[in-house]
Amino acid sequence: MKKRIGIDVGGTNVKIALVDENGKIIYSNSVPTYAKMGYEYTVNNIKQAIRDLMKETETDSTMIDAIGFDFPGQVDYKTGVVKLAPNIPGWVNVPIAQMIEDEFHIPTRIDNDVRCAALGEMKFGAGRGCQNFVCITVGTGIGSGLVVNGQLVRGAANAAGELGHIKLQMKDGPICGCGDTGCLEAFASGPSIVAMAYEYIKGGKATKFREMAGADGEITPYIVAKAAEEGDPVAKRIFEIVGEYIGIGLTSVINLLNPEKVIIGGGVAEAGDLLFDPIRRTIKDRAMTVAGSSVEIVPAQLGNSAGVIGASMLIDG
Ligand code: ADP
Repeated sequence: MKKRIGIDVGGTNVKIALVDENGKIIYSNSVPTYAKMGYEYTVNNIKQAIRDLMKETETDSTMIDAIGFDFPGQVDYKTGVVKLAPNIPGWVNVPIAQMIEDEFHIPTRIDNDVRCAALGEMKFGAGRGCQNFVCITVGTGIGSGLVVNGQLVRGAANAAGELGHIKLQMKDGPICGCGDTGCLEAFASGPSIVAMAYEYIKGGKATKFREMAGADGEITPYIVAKAAEEGDPVAKRIFEIVGEYIGIGLTSVINLLNPEKVIIGGGVAEAGDLLFDPIRRTIKDRAMTVAGSSVEIVPAQLGNSAGVIGASMLIDG
């Protein structure tokens, strides 16, 4: 039975896994990214991690079908070049697939992180059996992977799926990390939950999330979610607003693509019904009837492993 390697490159750590044909992780490990040391340093660590994986699992190049990488940024799927990864400084125009193929003589592919997660969910998670779905992640930003007619959609220049940058406001609005204003991500990601929470307590009002913030006063989306679960009305309202924004963004996508499912993952989606209820309600109220009533809004199933599992499947994704 042949196996594949999935590698998930993040700003802090590189996760590596050996994955079997059923999407099961047989072995996993991680090495620090240390981006500030330069990309060559990280690439050498990745090569060593692949050698360690082979040693520990008693495999060699002939027993491994493919290697797949996922990156949080812009990549060229066709040439295997990382164009730009904003959270991993120094990774600009790095031909990583070629570098790995030259070393290990195993076919290697790369793609962006949310597309890999969508591929993982399609093969082994919440998207199994679906021909048309949208996979979104809500964390520090909002990203998406689109599957249409059973295929990942990459777009003309490999830039498809930027759901976080759907405009919710014609002019002005909150400033987004992309440089524009009024993007969904600027209204509804983890940092906007935190901004809303601070805005509320600015005048000294008491809330549960203020009490729960601890000595340093740092509020996170996780803390706001816990406060909401304990009945704090402001925290509940924040999740209502954020869910409504995401629901409005998704309404456009649902009207456009008529997907069977929307799969929602990422850290903030761990809030569960607090976030899912207003999303579902908004879509039901605002999307066109046929597309809106047939779509299912479900949580992602593969969690943190979606990236490595999906990346390992890129060669026929
Ligand atoms: P990144 O986009 O940086 O990869 P993640 O998708 O891991 O981030 O999401 C991290 C965020 O998820 C953090 O801001 C954290 O506070 C938030 N988070 C984690 N668990 C929960 C939860 N149960 N409810 C709401 N937010 C959560």
